[in-house]
Amino acid sequence: MSIDPAAELPFFYGSISRSDAEQHLKLAGMADGLFLLRQCLRSLGGYVLSVVWNLEFSHYPVEKQLNGTYCIAGGKPHCGPAELCEFYSKDPDGLVCILRKPCLRSPDTPIKAGVFDDLRENMLREYVRQTWSLEGESMEQAIISQAPQLEKLIATTAHEKMPWYHGKISRQEGERRLYSGVQPDGKFLVRDRDDSGTFALSMMYGKTVYHYQILHDKSGKYSMPEGTKFDTIWQLVEYQKMKPDGLVTVLGESCLNGKAAAEKTPNLPAPRPGRTNGYTPAPRADGAVSKPANNVPADRDVLPMDCSGFNPYHNPNEVRRFNIKRNQLLIDEVELGSGNFGCVKKGVLKTDSGQIDVAIKVLKSDNEKLVKEEMMREAEIMHQLSNPYIVRMLGLCNAESLMLVMEMASAGPLNKFLSANKDTVTMENIVNLMHQVSVGMKYLEEKNFVHRDLAARNVLLVNQQFAKISDFGLSKALGADDNYYKARTSGKWPLKWYAPECIHFHKFSSKSDVWSFGITMWEAFSYGGKPYKKMKGMDVMRFIDGGSRMECPSACPERMYTVMKECWTYKHEERPDFKKVEESMRSYHFSVSNKAKPEEAAAAAAAAAVAEPVE
Ligand code: AMP
Repeated sequence: MSIDPAAELPFFYGSISRSDAEQHLKLAGMADGLFLLRQCLRSLGGYVLSVVWNLEFSHYPVEKQLNGTYCIAGGKPHCGPAELCEFYSKDPDGLVCILRKPCLRSPDTPIKAGVFDDLRENMLREYVRQTWSLEGESMEQAIISQAPQLEKLIATTAHEKMPWYHGKISRQEGERRLYSGVQPDGKFLVRDRDDSGTFALSMMYGKTVYHYQILHDKSGKYSMPEGTKFDTIWQLVEYQKMKPDGLVTVLGESCLNGKAAAEKTPNLPAPRPGRTNGYTPAPRADGAVSKPANNVPADRDVLPMDCSGFNPYHNPNEVRRFNIKRNQLLIDEVELGSGNFGCVKKGVLKTDSGQIDVAIKVLKSDNEKLVKEEMMREAEIMHQLSNPYIVRMLGLCNAESLMLVMEMASAGPLNKFLSANKDTVTMENIVNLMHQVSVGMKYLEEKNFVHRDLAARNVLLVNQQFAKISDFGLSKALGADDNYYKARTSGKWPLKWYAPECIHFHKFSSKSDVWSFGITMWEAFSYGGKPYKKMKGMDVMRFIDGGSRMECPSACPERMYTVMKECWTYKHEERPDFKKVEESMRSYHFSVSNKAKPEEAAAAAAAAAVAEPVE
C-alpha cells in the first residue's frame, strides 16, 4: 500500500537483482547512457542506478539520507529519485556519462515487490486490526490515508512479540539461553540492553556467543555500527538473515523466547493501554475546541482512527437508522452554524451502546414546503453514503421541526480553521487533510454521486488531522448510465468553484467536482484565502475562458500546484478523475510524511557521531 517514491517512473523495476538489471539493459540494446533504477536490497528506501557506457555496466547506489533526500555517494542531494535522475540526465557529475535513454519497463514487467514490502504490509494490517478493531473497508481507508504515520508507529513496537525477542535479560542470561539446546551457527536472540531503550543482538557462531549492540539514532533508525539503517528492529533482523552486514555470519534460527516457543506465528503487541492523551485540541476560530479522542498515547498526534467518527457503526443496524425518536435526542442551545434552511445545533444522540456527539440541522419551523423537500433530498443522499471522510447522517427526527442528525465535526470548516491557525498548521498537515478529501471524493465518484458544492467551507474538521466532506444540499445521484447531471435552471451557484461546463452548459459530473477540488486545494494551501480575490463571477468566467488560472499560493509545494492546475483543465474529457487525483495526492502525502524534519536530521547526525562502539 505504501507507495515507493519511484513507483511512477517508467524505468523503475523495483527489487530486481544486479544480473536481472543487466539483462534488461542488454535486451534494450546497450546504448551509451541507457539506464534504469532499481530498489536497493541493502539500504531501506535506497536505490541503485544502473547505467551502460562503452558496452559495460556501472551500478551506483543511491542512499536515502536521514533528512529524506537522496544522493549518490559524493554527489549532490536531491529531493526524490525522479529529481535525481533528471539532474544526472544533464550533468554526469562523476558518473561514467549522463543518463541519456531510460530503459523502459515493458507492459508485462511489473515493478517487483521488495523483500520487506509484504512483511511491512502484513504488520500494518495487523496493527490497525488490533489497535482500532477495524476490518474490511474501514481498515483499508485507515491504511490508505495514514500509512506513513502507521509505519512510524509500528516501527517502535513491532519487535515486541517476535519469537526472537527476549526483553530485558542480562548478557549472561542471553548466553545461557543460546547455549541451551542445539547450537547451530547463526542462532540468535535480541534483548534490551538496559533501561536506555537500546538493544543487543546475541548470536551463536562456532559454539561461541557473540554480542552486538544495535544502535538507535535520533531519527529512530536502527543499525549495527557502520551498518545499514532500518526503520524497525525486525527489518534489521530480516536483512541480517540474508546478509551478515558486519556480523560473523548471517542470522539463522531464532532462539525462541518462552512464549513464542508455544506459538507458531508471531503476534503483534496488543494495543497500548489507554492513557490520557496529550493532544491539545486546536482552538477554533470561534474559540470553541474540538474534543480530544480517547486513549491516544501522549507521544503521538491523534489519528483519524482514534476518533469514534472514523467508524461509528459498531453495530450498523443500531445507530444507522433513518428515523430517530425525539427522546433519543438532547439538543444544545449552542449553534454551530446557519444557512437558508435554519441552523445547525450541537447535540447528543442516545443509543443502546452509549451517547454520540452530533450536529443537528434544524429546519426553521415556519419554512415553506420547498426547503423541507430540499432537506429530505439531502438526507436521502447522505443516507446512502458511508465513508470516514464524509460527514455521516445518523438519521432524521421529525418533531417540533424536521431535524437532520449528523456526526459531529467539531473543529469546524476548513477555511476558517486554517485562517485562525496559520502558525500551527504545517504544509504536511494540509497535504494530509486534502488527501483525505480526495479519498472521500473518490468514494463519491465510485458511487456515482456528484457533490456540486465542494469548497473549503464545506470540508469540516473533526480535529486538526481529520477532515470530512459535508453539505450535500446540491448533490445528485447519477443514473447508472449517466455520467453527468444536467441542471434545468441555474440557481444560487458558487460560480468561483464551478468548472466551465457547469456554467456554460449546466452539466455536472465527478469531473466538475474535480475542478472544485482544485479550488478547494487553492483555498487550503492559502490558509483559507478567498479565490479570485475581488473578482465577480462573470469576471472569473472570462478569466478562465481566456486561459488564465489562479497563481500558486505562496509556500504551496510545486507538486500540489501542479495537481491544482490539472484539476483546472478546461475540457472535462482531459481533466483527471478522482482516482487519478487521489493517487497524486497520496504519493505526495506519503513522500512528505516520510521525510525527516531538518532538525531531526541534524540531531540524528550528531547522535550517530557519538555512537558507542560494538560491545
Ligand atoms: P451547512 O448548511 O451544511 O453548510 O451547515 C452550516 C454550518 O453548520 C457549517 O458551516 C458548519 O459550521 C456547521 N455544521 C454543519 N454540519 C456540521 C457537522 N456535522 N458538525 C459540525 N458543524 C457542522
